[in-house]
Amino acid sequence: MTTPVPAPRAGDWSAMLPTRFDAAARERIEGRVQAIGRDLLEKSLAAQPTVLSPDYWAEQAGEWVLADDDLKVRLFRLVDCMPMLDDPAAVDRHLREYLDDESLEKLPAMLRTALKAARSGILAPFAARAVRAAMLAQAKRFIAGTTPAEAAKAALRERRRHRGFTLDLLGEAVTSDAEADAYAAAYTRLLEELPPEATRWPTDPLVDDGPAGPLPRVNVSLKLSALDPRFDCVDPAGTTARVRARLRPLWRLARDRGAQVHVDMESHATKDLTLAIFKTIAMEEEFRDWPHCGIVVQCYLREAPHDLVHLAAWAQQRGTPIWVRLVKGAYWDYETIHARAAGWPVPVWQQKWQTDACYEAATTFVMEHAAVLRPALGSHNLRSLAHGMAVAEALGLDRRTVEMQMLYGMGDAEKEAVTAAGWRMRVYMPYGELVPGMAYLVRRLLENSSNDSFLRAGFVKHVAAEQLLAAPVPPARPAAAPATRAAESEPVGAGFTNEPLADFSVAANREAFAHSVVRAREAGGGPPLVPVVIGGERLEPGERFDRRDPSDHARVVARVCAATAADARRAVETARAALPAWQAAGVARRADVLRAAAAIMRTRRFDLAALQVFEVGKPWREADADVAEAIDFCEFYAREAERLFAPRRVDVPGEENATTHLPRGVAVVIAPWNFPLAILCGMTTAALVTGNPVVMKPAEQSSLTGLRLFEILREAGVPPGALAFLPGRGEVVGPALVSHPDTALVAFTGSRAVGLAINRLAAETSAGPESRVITKVIAELGGKNAIIVDDDADLDEAVVGVVSSAFGFQGQKCSACSRVIVLDHVHDAFVARLAEAVKSLGVGPADDPGTRVGPVVDEEARERVRSCLEIGQRTGRVVAAVDVGPLADRGWFVGPHVFADVDPAGPLGQDEIFGPVLAVFRARDFDHALELANGTAYALTAGVYSRSPARLRLAAERLVAGNVYLNRGITGALVNRQPFGGYRMSGIGSKAGGPEYLLQFTVPRTVTENTMRRGFAPPAADDG
Ligand SMILES: Cc1cc2nc3c(=O)[nH]c(=O)nc-3n(C[C@H](O)[C@H](O)[C@H](O)COP(=O)(O)OP(=O)(O)OC[C@H]3O[C@@H](n4cnc5c(N)ncnc54)[C@H](O)[C@@H]3O)c2cc1C
Repeated sequence: MTTPVPAPRAGDWSAMLPTRFDAAARERIEGRVQAIGRDLLEKSLAAQPTVLSPDYWAEQAGEWVLADDDLKVRLFRLVDCMPMLDDPAAVDRHLREYLDDESLEKLPAMLRTALKAARSGILAPFAARAVRAAMLAQAKRFIAGTTPAEAAKAALRERRRHRGFTLDLLGEAVTSDAEADAYAAAYTRLLEELPPEATRWPTDPLVDDGPAGPLPRVNVSLKLSALDPRFDCVDPAGTTARVRARLRPLWRLARDRGAQVHVDMESHATKDLTLAIFKTIAMEEEFRDWPHCGIVVQCYLREAPHDLVHLAAWAQQRGTPIWVRLVKGAYWDYETIHARAAGWPVPVWQQKWQTDACYEAATTFVMEHAAVLRPALGSHNLRSLAHGMAVAEALGLDRRTVEMQMLYGMGDAEKEAVTAAGWRMRVYMPYGELVPGMAYLVRRLLENSSNDSFLRAGFVKHVAAEQLLAAPVPPARPAAAPATRAAESEPVGAGFTNEPLADFSVAANREAFAHSVVRAREAGGGPPLVPVVIGGERLEPGERFDRRDPSDHARVVARVCAATAADARRAVETARAALPAWQAAGVARRADVLRAAAAIMRTRRFDLAALQVFEVGKPWREADADVAEAIDFCEFYAREAERLFAPRRVDVPGEENATTHLPRGVAVVIAPWNFPLAILCGMTTAALVTGNPVVMKPAEQSSLTGLRLFEILREAGVPPGALAFLPGRGEVVGPALVSHPDTALVAFTGSRAVGLAINRLAAETSAGPESRVITKVIAELGGKNAIIVDDDADLDEAVVGVVSSAFGFQGQKCSACSRVIVLDHVHDAFVARLAEAVKSLGVGPADDPGTRVGPVVDEEARERVRSCLEIGQRTGRVVAAVDVGPLADRGWFVGPHVFADVDPAGPLGQDEIFGPVLAVFRARDFDHALELANGTAYALTAGVYSRSPARLRLAAERLVAGNVYLNRGITGALVNRQPFGGYRMSGIGSKAGGPEYLLQFTVPRTVTENTMRRGFAPPAADDG
């Protein structure tokens, strides 16, 4: 794990990284920074676009929209979907949706009138075309061409201006091996074709002369995540092996052809892995003496100083220098929002001056280690660059050792000023298709429109030179909070926050999880026995069954005692006897027990998750999320119970009314195996905290996880009589429990057939002569969930969202996507990408961190899925069929399958499959898509990927589902944030993890007192 450094002290970058400069030297450097900075600024301002230049108008138009946050978001979203809209009607529709009348009012009068006029008549299609063309032209400002030939031409133009270049192929969301291969092949072509041509270019000493001879003329930048669709920090070994296999030939080619390769840096989650892969390949024997490779360090990261110290030590050991491009970082908003939403520490500095100070500390450090870390300063901030130049001067560095880098299409006047001052300037030139390039473009728009941007402050807002060039120090009056949307959207739910998922980019978490996996795999003493426990008494009935590891059925994970019908009856009776004491314990005590259980789970978190890896075949991330959800249920229901049990008083003069809640009575909890800890825990703790004694019946397949939960709850303070544990065969124990006349409540999660049978039996029992209570049934049943992919959807996101929703935990979630409904216009393109993505999913044993798709839960499940595959093969068109090879003999593996041209009314369109099978439907238009989505008996989850605000609204209104998701996957509901549950055949009862859930476990009771005596009454509490 990397250690974040403390925040910098005012103006003193030496606090962040060691430096040989003392305070006096730093002061002298600051003097030079001011002089150099002023010179660069003056020259840049002199060469800035004039009123006659198109750039001037582009920038001014930008300023109009930036004044209003809502308009800015609307416009950026419109720009984002524009390349997908190839017909004027679609452009016109989106223009109207994004720029409604209210938004138009915010535009300057001239623009507003023109747009209104164009919208209202026969001119609309022409206006739409013109707007699209203008927007794409803006986008193209930042992109150096679509093809390698255009990019090469643009690169040559840069050389004519005495600047070098680095070419970057646009596209980051690689979803399949085919796409990763295509990305590598494009670089191969570039590296094969451009270097021979480059030898014919005239020499330019400013660009070509390096510290140790001529520099490569051809320089490319690439993203490692684009070389592997399964790039994932949870699996460093697998990712490294796959990335190296594609990267090595590119490095070899670059080395042989005399080119340079620079590795870009992306999100913080991939940073350590990117650095590690870079170091590994650079240390390979064939590359160890190759100096023409480089890496990026993002100085907005708190960990940047730490990483640089390690990079310098490593480069020293390597013995050949590498290039280090220092940037501030392009994903500041994302990193801030993402970390806050996940409940993780925010990895980026939260104040701009801290990033700037970190940049200056890093610049000084790299320059002081220039013998091994060649400094490349990637920035448009003239203060930052002037600082670098001043430090280089102070160190007496040969200018050829250092280079300045800027982005294509931005700050051309600055570039000229830097080259005029005699420094090498390299331009970062993205090229490629616009659709995959939109993420890059939106980053540039965000950056250029940020209030913290140097370019905007210096060249649009014309902030004074003193302020622009001031050393990075804290503001005189510190800002109350960083001015971001992220800060405003902090998730809050009455003080409850979700348990953060494990951050597997942190090595310590990976190692701890791996240890738990090893411990679970190698636990000595044979498989544990799972007993029956009633009233605190451990029973070990003779009938037992073995639970086997779905990834390797030779391994027995647990030996499970099968409770009998007599045990079930005894359990209910023991629980009934415990009711008065547990009720009398009071809500505060019961809530504390839940909190204690959550605390115990936290201490055993990875052990509980590792057990699931072996008991039900859950991959690492999914298993960790299940434990986090169980903790959430404990914490959330503890709070909710305290809220619910506070008496509600409505007093009027002469009358007092108090409504309170009582437990219903004995609660039977029958749980599934697919969320073996979370669902069992959620239903059990909801019943317990509301004062009901519980008989827990875990699923046969996850009895050991159930036992661990039982032990935790007992350890946390649940009295022996209030909780019984009844593992065994559902068909034996279930009916005995449900048909007991003392069973007041059944909380069930599972299949539709069993849920309906329970409901029927409960009704019959309630009608029986012995019954004193109508048994309440809460049932969460299945789903046949659909995702709609609209014709303007971001297909990168849609493919990723559909794949994870359909194949996460092998599709064995009631929320899983089993139907994807794609609009005709994008159907074929989407299906082609989906098919490749599915074929690239890593199928393997669940204990391997690289596994995306593991085994299904047991033989019966595999057989059921296989019969669905047969139906698919007979009645549909196979789009993807992953063969699991020899894994089929080792565990209950069945590969992911996708079928198209499926009959919506047939079994694949209607029946819940609970396995890795996805059906694709083609929709004529959006209404047809909604009709297909709603055309089943279920109503659990549904989703839509669209960039049309009107269609998103329509989907939110009309999709028949308990949980509707817009532009994201449809699984992974979080307690409190997304209360979970459906209606129709998907269940009865209100949502788990929501504010009404506990109500179902209670009966409300109202006491009314007439306080009037002979015309006199005490004043009502409300009267004060
Ligand atoms: C040649 C080149 C290559 C690049 N390669 C990469 C790359 O591989 N990976 C990558 O991530 N970026 C890369 N970038 C993009 C770069 O990160 C941004 O262009 C850069 O951050 C803008 O910084 P600046 O110094 O030009 O401008 P400035 O205006 O001085 O700084 C803006 C930056 O400050 C930071 N910031 C903004 N607000 C705050 C705040 N409230 N608190 C703390 N910090 C804040 C952000 O990083 C923001 O981008 C590259 C840039 C160049 C020029």
